[in-house]
Amino acid sequence: MTDCIFCKIIRGEIPCTKVYEDDAVLAFDDIHPMAPVHVVIIPKTHVATLMDVDAKEGTIGRLIAAAQEVAGIKNVAASGFRTVVNCNADGGQVVFHLHMHLLGGRKLEDQMG
Ligand code: 5GP
Ligand code: ZN
Repeated sequence: MTDCIFCKIIRGEIPCTKVYEDDAVLAFDDIHPMAPVHVVIIPKTHVATLMDVDAKEGTIGRLIAAAQEVAGIKNVAASGFRTVVNCNADGGQVVFHLHMHLLGGRKLEDQMG
Protein backbone atom coordinates (compact mmCIF):
# COMPACT_ATOMS: atom_id res chain seq x y z
CA MET A 1 0.00 0.00 0.00
CA THR A 2 1.81 3.11 -1.20
CA ASP A 3 0.11 5.70 0.99
CA CYS A 4 -0.20 3.61 4.18
CA ILE A 5 1.86 5.27 6.94
CA PHE A 6 2.90 1.95 8.51
CA CYS A 7 3.90 0.51 5.11
CA LYS A 8 6.06 3.62 4.69
CA ILE A 9 7.70 2.88 8.06
CA ILE A 10 8.35 -0.71 6.92
CA ARG A 11 9.94 0.59 3.70
CA GLY A 12 12.10 3.04 5.69
CA GLU A 13 10.43 6.08 4.09
CA ILE A 14 9.32 7.33 7.52
CA PRO A 15 11.77 6.93 10.42
CA CYS A 16 10.89 5.03 13.56
CA THR A 17 12.57 3.98 16.77
CA LYS A 18 12.78 0.26 16.15
CA VAL A 19 12.31 -2.06 19.13
CA TYR A 20 12.17 -5.47 17.43
CA GLU A 21 12.11 -6.88 13.91
CA ASP A 22 11.95 -10.28 12.28
CA ASP A 23 10.94 -11.56 8.85
CA ALA A 24 7.22 -11.08 9.51
CA VAL A 25 6.92 -8.30 12.09
CA LEU A 26 8.23 -4.83 12.95
CA ALA A 27 7.83 -3.19 16.38
CA PHE A 28 8.60 0.45 17.15
CA ASP A 29 7.96 3.07 19.83
CA ASP A 30 4.63 4.89 19.44
CA ILE A 31 5.12 8.51 18.43
CA HIS A 32 2.53 9.62 21.03
CA PRO A 33 3.13 7.27 23.97
CA MET A 34 0.25 6.69 26.40
CA ALA A 35 2.51 4.97 28.94
CA PRO A 36 6.25 4.80 29.70
CA VAL A 37 6.36 1.75 27.42
CA HIS A 38 4.17 2.06 24.32
CA VAL A 39 5.20 -0.04 21.37
CA VAL A 40 3.31 -0.58 18.09
CA ILE A 41 3.68 -4.08 16.63
CA ILE A 42 2.78 -4.54 12.97
CA PRO A 43 2.87 -7.30 10.36
CA LYS A 44 5.13 -6.50 7.42
CA THR A 45 2.32 -7.47 5.05
CA HIS A 46 -0.44 -4.87 4.74
CA VAL A 47 -3.71 -5.96 6.36
CA ALA A 48 -6.16 -3.16 7.11
CA THR A 49 -7.97 -4.33 10.24
CA LEU A 50 -8.47 -7.23 12.65
CA MET A 51 -11.50 -8.19 10.55
CA ASP A 52 -9.37 -8.57 7.43
CA VAL A 53 -6.73 -10.92 8.83
CA ASP A 54 -6.98 -14.65 8.21
CA ALA A 55 -6.83 -15.85 11.81
CA LYS A 56 -6.04 -19.38 10.65
CA GLU A 57 -2.74 -18.37 9.06
CA GLY A 58 0.26 -17.17 11.02
CA THR A 59 -0.03 -13.39 11.37
CA ILE A 60 -1.73 -13.18 14.75
CA GLY A 61 0.62 -15.74 16.26
CA ARG A 62 3.61 -13.83 14.92
CA LEU A 63 2.28 -10.61 16.51
CA ILE A 64 1.91 -12.39 19.86
CA ALA A 65 5.41 -13.86 19.55
CA ALA A 66 6.75 -10.38 18.82
CA ALA A 67 4.85 -9.00 21.84
CA GLN A 68 6.67 -11.55 24.02
CA GLU A 69 9.99 -10.38 22.59
CA VAL A 70 9.10 -6.71 23.07
CA ALA A 71 8.00 -7.31 26.67
CA GLY A 72 11.41 -8.81 27.35
CA ILE A 73 13.31 -6.06 25.55
CA LYS A 74 11.35 -3.34 27.41
CA ASN A 75 11.65 -5.22 30.72
CA VAL A 76 7.90 -5.37 31.43
CA ALA A 77 7.37 -9.13 31.17
CA ALA A 78 7.28 -9.62 34.95
CA SER A 79 5.73 -6.28 35.93
CA GLY A 80 3.02 -6.70 33.32
CA PHE A 81 1.63 -4.95 30.30
CA ARG A 82 -1.49 -4.61 28.16
CA THR A 83 -1.96 -5.41 24.49
CA VAL A 84 -4.69 -3.64 22.50
CA VAL A 85 -5.88 -4.02 18.92
CA ASN A 86 -8.28 -1.25 17.91
CA CYS A 87 -10.67 -2.11 15.08
CA ASN A 88 -12.58 0.39 12.94
CA ALA A 89 -14.32 3.57 14.10
CA ASP A 90 -15.83 2.62 17.47
CA GLY A 91 -12.63 0.79 18.39
CA GLY A 92 -10.67 3.98 17.83
CA GLN A 93 -8.58 2.71 14.92
CA VAL A 94 -6.80 5.60 13.21
CA VAL A 95 -4.15 3.82 11.14
CA PHE A 96 -5.64 1.18 8.86
CA HIS A 97 -2.73 -1.24 8.92
CA LEU A 98 -3.30 -3.97 11.52
CA HIS A 99 -1.29 -3.25 14.68
CA MET A 100 -1.06 -4.31 18.28
CA HIS A 101 -0.28 -1.75 20.98
CA LEU A 102 1.86 -2.95 23.89
CA LEU A 103 1.56 -0.66 26.92
CA GLY A 104 3.35 -0.89 30.25
CA GLY A 105 5.83 0.65 32.64
CA ARG A 106 3.12 1.89 34.99
CA LYS A 107 -0.11 0.55 36.55
CA LEU A 108 -2.70 0.94 33.80
CA GLU A 109 -6.26 2.05 34.54
CA ASP A 110 -8.81 -0.67 35.20
CA GLN A 111 -11.21 0.64 32.60
CA MET A 112 -11.20 -0.82 29.12
CA GLY A 113 -12.66 2.25 27.46
P1 5GP B 1 -4.73 3.32 16.41
O1 5GP B 1 -5.51 4.42 17.04
O2 5GP B 1 -4.91 3.27 14.91
O3 5GP B 1 -4.94 2.00 17.08
O4 5GP B 1 -3.21 3.66 16.73
C1 5GP B 1 -2.30 4.19 15.82
C2 5GP B 1 -1.08 4.54 16.62
O5 5GP B 1 -0.03 4.82 15.72
C3 5GP B 1 -1.25 5.78 17.51
O6 5GP B 1 -0.98 5.42 18.85
C4 5GP B 1 -0.24 6.78 16.94
O7 5GP B 1 0.38 7.56 17.94
C5 5GP B 1 0.73 5.88 16.23
N1 5GP B 1 1.35 6.51 15.09
C6 5GP B 1 0.73 7.14 14.06
N2 5GP B 1 1.62 7.60 13.17
C7 5GP B 1 2.84 7.24 13.62
C8 5GP B 1 4.17 7.41 13.12
O8 5GP B 1 4.41 8.00 12.07
N3 5GP B 1 5.18 6.90 13.87
C9 5GP B 1 4.97 6.23 15.03
N4 5GP B 1 6.03 5.77 15.69
N5 5GP B 1 3.72 6.03 15.54
C10 5GP B 1 2.68 6.54 14.84
ZN1 ZN C 1 0.14 -0.74 5.38
